[in-house]
Amino acid sequence: MKNAQLYWLRNDLRCHDNLALWNASQSGPVVAVCLISPATWQAHDDSPIKVDFWMRNLRALKHSLSQRNIPLRIATIAEWSEAPSALLTLARQLGVETIWFNDEYGIHEQQRDDAVDRAFSDAGLGCQRFTDQILFKPGSVLTQAGTMFKVYSQFRKVAYQRLHTWLPECVPAPPKQTVQNLESDSVPAAVEGFAVPGTDQQSLWPAGEQAAADRLAHFSENILLDYERSRDRPDQDGTSRLSPYLVSGVLSPRQCLHAAIAANRGEFDAGNAGATTWINELLWREFYKHILVCYPHVSRHRAFRENMEKLPWRNDPKALEAWKQGQTGIPIIDAAMRQLLATGWMHNRLRMLTAMFLSKNLLIDWREGERWFMRQLIDGDLAANNGGWQWSSSTGTDSAPYFRIFNPVTQSRKFDPDGLFIRQWVPELEHLSNKQIHQPPIDDLFSATSYPAAIVDLGDSRRRALDAFKGL
Ligand SMILES: Cc1cc2nc3c(=O)[nH]c(=O)nc-3n(C[C@H](O)[C@H](O)[C@H](O)COP(=O)(O)OP(=O)(O)OC[C@H]3O[C@@H](n4cnc5c(N)ncnc54)[C@H](O)[C@@H]3O)c2cc1C
Repeated sequence: MKNAQLYWLRNDLRCHDNLALWNASQSGPVVAVCLISPATWQAHDDSPIKVDFWMRNLRALKHSLSQRNIPLRIATIAEWSEAPSALLTLARQLGVETIWFNDEYGIHEQQRDDAVDRAFSDAGLGCQRFTDQILFKPGSVLTQAGTMFKVYSQFRKVAYQRLHTWLPECVPAPPKQTVQNLESDSVPAAVEGFAVPGTDQQSLWPAGEQAAADRLAHFSENILLDYERSRDRPDQDGTSRLSPYLVSGVLSPRQCLHAAIAANRGEFDAGNAGATTWINELLWREFYKHILVCYPHVSRHRAFRENMEKLPWRNDPKALEAWKQGQTGIPIIDAAMRQLLATGWMHNRLRMLTAMFLSKNLLIDWREGERWFMRQLIDGDLAANNGGWQWSSSTGTDSAPYFRIFNPVTQSRKFDPDGLFIRQWVPELEHLSNKQIHQPPIDDLFSATSYPAAIVDLGDSRRRALDAFKGL
């Protein structure tokens, strides 16, 4: 092929507003390639529901690419270290000039991308890389001293200043190119080592750019302007539920930002409080990706604050298992953990509650919870998950102070006042009154229900956590 361009796709499974794909399409005929690495995905604790979501979106993307005459090649490799040779072999077969891709920020993904960059340059071929997963290149939003921020509000202030001078625009989908004499590979129905979820789970998360765009439109039109109030209510459809699409790149942060700005009459840091609060959440996403790159020890399973490594975590496999299975006897915690098991997603307030419950009330190492979340979440993302866990366990940057321990019963009364969310996921408690459902009366537990008694006393365990943290 003359002037052939290789677009290497990863967590950017979309045609629209894809910087690497668009720029490649401006330089010559494009061939897309995807590398599947089951062993790496298992080592990174990627969940079966997420891997299935990738495959379903890859299938939808293959269709959109074929409408533009862009063939899709798929190769399976054992580990990322095989990426340079797999891609070079394909590039030579096709007579490719340049490889194009959007940067990823996990430590292994950065090493992989740098190795591919070097291999192509050593072979006399081009390599073009883009900042596409986030708005600003990590390491480019800095303090006056030239260091990465440790406090989110200060990071956000500078991010806003940057957006005032430069608002990133969306790019179009690549145009239709001339037909190429190259077949596309078929997308595997399943990936070795990852069970395919049932259709009931799959139907919760429809695949494809159109599904993501529909959800974004529904959210912007019906929920966004009330988001400041609705976002803490797990019993309501009060958040975007776009995280799986953002994590897999079926939707870009620029598309989200522009939808919010359009709904907010052109403003991003003023105007409607719902819209500005939501944009702040997009910037939390941004902040944690920058933290991952600028403070790489967090992706090596280390606490952001080194002194937190001395915390006397408890080894309590029984309590850990009860937490994982939604059998702790604390209704809101169990409802949340069962939502995670059944849907692959959990509401943000409940992620904070369940993470604090594990790391404070049970005093179990936050890394156990981080790993369990990653293995279940459809939106599992190293930066956001690690950031969320380190925030909740007070080991992270700009995290919750150790003495601010959420009481799950109080939080449950506040954010699920009628117990609707609990009733949905813990049907054993359906019969209880709105008042009782947050903390079932002891005598009820001896009745016909199979619901367990609380595995821990909330007051005693709070004091135990305070003592452990105070000691550092
Ligand atoms: C312990 C813990 C673990 C988490 N793990 C993940 C994870 O693996 N993947 C993930 O995407 N988010 C994670 N989060 C952040 C947050 O809970 C989810 O992004 C959010 O619940 C997704 O729902 P939504 O799309 O409806 O969010 P919305 O409220 O609609 O927010 C819009 C988008 O902003 C981003 N966002 C919102 N809150 C945060 C946040 N606190 N940190 C980073 N980004 C944020 C997400 O991309 C989200 O889709 C975690 C939070 C905690 C406390």
